[in-house]
Amino acid sequence: MIKRPKGTFDIYGMDAKLWKQMEETIHHVCYSFGAEEIRTPIFEFTDLFVRGVGDTTDIVQKEMYTFSDRADRSFTLRPELTASVMRAYDENGLHNLHKPQKLYYIGPIFRAETPQKGRQRQFTQMGIEYLGVDSPEADGEVISIAYMLLKKIGIEGATIRINSIGSPASRKEFYTHIQEHVEKTEGFCKFCKERAYTNPLRVIDCKNEECQSLLIGTKNMLDFLNKEDTIHFEEVKKYLDRMHIPYIVDPKIVRGLDYYVKTVFEIHVDSIGAQSALGGGGRYDGLLKSIGSSKDTPGVGFALGLERFVLALQAQGKWVDEKEENSLFVAFIGEKAKEKAEEIVFALRQADIPAEIDLLNRNLRGQMKYADKLGMTYSMVLGEDEIEKEKAIIKHMQTGEEKEIAFSNIHQFMEGK
Ligand code: AMP
Repeated sequence: MIKRPKGTFDIYGMDAKLWKQMEETIHHVCYSFGAEEIRTPIFEFTDLFVRGVGDTTDIVQKEMYTFSDRADRSFTLRPELTASVMRAYDENGLHNLHKPQKLYYIGPIFRAETPQKGRQRQFTQMGIEYLGVDSPEADGEVISIAYMLLKKIGIEGATIRINSIGSPASRKEFYTHIQEHVEKTEGFCKFCKERAYTNPLRVIDCKNEECQSLLIGTKNMLDFLNKEDTIHFEEVKKYLDRMHIPYIVDPKIVRGLDYYVKTVFEIHVDSIGAQSALGGGGRYDGLLKSIGSSKDTPGVGFALGLERFVLALQAQGKWVDEKEENSLFVAFIGEKAKEKAEEIVFALRQADIPAEIDLLNRNLRGQMKYADKLGMTYSMVLGEDEIEKEKAIIKHMQTGEEKEIAFSNIHQFMEGK
C-alpha cells in the first residue's frame, strides 16, 4: 500500500473533533475582534516568498517546496501566509476599504523540514493580520487576540514573550555593534560569522550554546532603540498592562523572518517538548513594498501552529467537550418497516437531529449491536405492529428507560419538548 509522505498526518476520529472544536473557537474569537476570514491559494509564484519572507531566511534557503509548471513558471507551496495575505490585500484593492483591514486565516503550510515531534512538512497555521494601521494599540490588540485564543482553547502554562527589534533606522547601529563583536570574538559558529553580515539579528537567536555564551554581557537591540521606537514599545506594554495580559520582555526574541520591525513576540509552552513555540508575530511595515507594491502599508500580525496546540492540549489531558446531543437509532424488521424507518430517519436529519439506520442488511441483533457501537442515545424498533399503530417504543440505550411515542411526536420527543 502507498503510504503518506513523511512529515504529514491523517486526522480522524476524536482528533478531527478536537480540530473542529479548535477551529470553531478561532472563528469565534477572530469574529469578536472584528476580523474577517481570507482564503488564498495553496501555491503562489515563488518570487512572492523569496521577496516577502527574505532570501537570507532558512525558509527560503532550505525549506520551500518549489516546482515548475509545464510553462516553466516557478511556483511554491506556501511556507507561511503573511506574504500571501499582503499580496491579496494589494491585488484585490482591499486598501480602498476601511482601515485597518483585519484579516485572519486557517490553512495548511508546507516546509521541507526534518520531521520530529511538533515539526511536520505539512502543518496548519491560523493567523491574523491588521493592515493599514501603525499604532502601538494595534500591536497590543493583536497580541491580545493570541492571548484570548490560548485562554478560550484552554492552553495552560503558555508564556507571551515580547521584544522590539526597532525600525531600520534604529537597527543600523545595533548591526554594527553585532558585526564588531562577532569579528573581534573567537568562537562564533560559521553561520553566525556569515549572519553578522547577511542577517545580524539571527546571531541573537542562534541555537549554538557557545554562540549564546559569547553574547552574554553584550548590549541588546532594546539599548539601541531610537525615541520613536522606544515610545512605541512602551505603549504596547502599557496596552497589555491595561488588559491584564501577562508577558515577559525577552531581548532574545527576534523572529526568523526578514520583514519584521518594532514589536515582535512569541508564545511558548514548555509541556510540548523541544519545539515549544506555539507561534509568533510582530509588526511588518515594509513588507508590502518589498513584494512589489507601490503602496506603503503598515501591518502587524501573528501565526500560530495548530498541531502544537493539539500537542499542548493532549499534554494537559484535555479532550473534546462533546456536546450531549440526543440521537436516535431506528431499527427495523422486514421490508415495510425498513421503508418507514428510512423515512423517519431522513425527516429527523432534515431537522438537524442525528439519526441512524442500518445500511448493511443486519438482522435485529446486529442492528442493535451497531447502535451500541455508535453510542446512540435512543433506539426504536419498527415491525409490522408499530407500522400499523403508527407508534413505537423509544428506549434510552444507557438507562433502559422506555416510552411509547407516536410517530408524529418523535421530533418533539427528540428535541426534549
Ligand atoms: P514561524 O512562522 O516559523 O514562526 O511559525 C509559526 C508557528 O507555526 C510556530 O510557532 C509553530 O507553532 C508552527 N510551525 C512552524 N513550523 C512548523 C512545522 N514544521 N511543523 C509544525 N508546526 C510548525
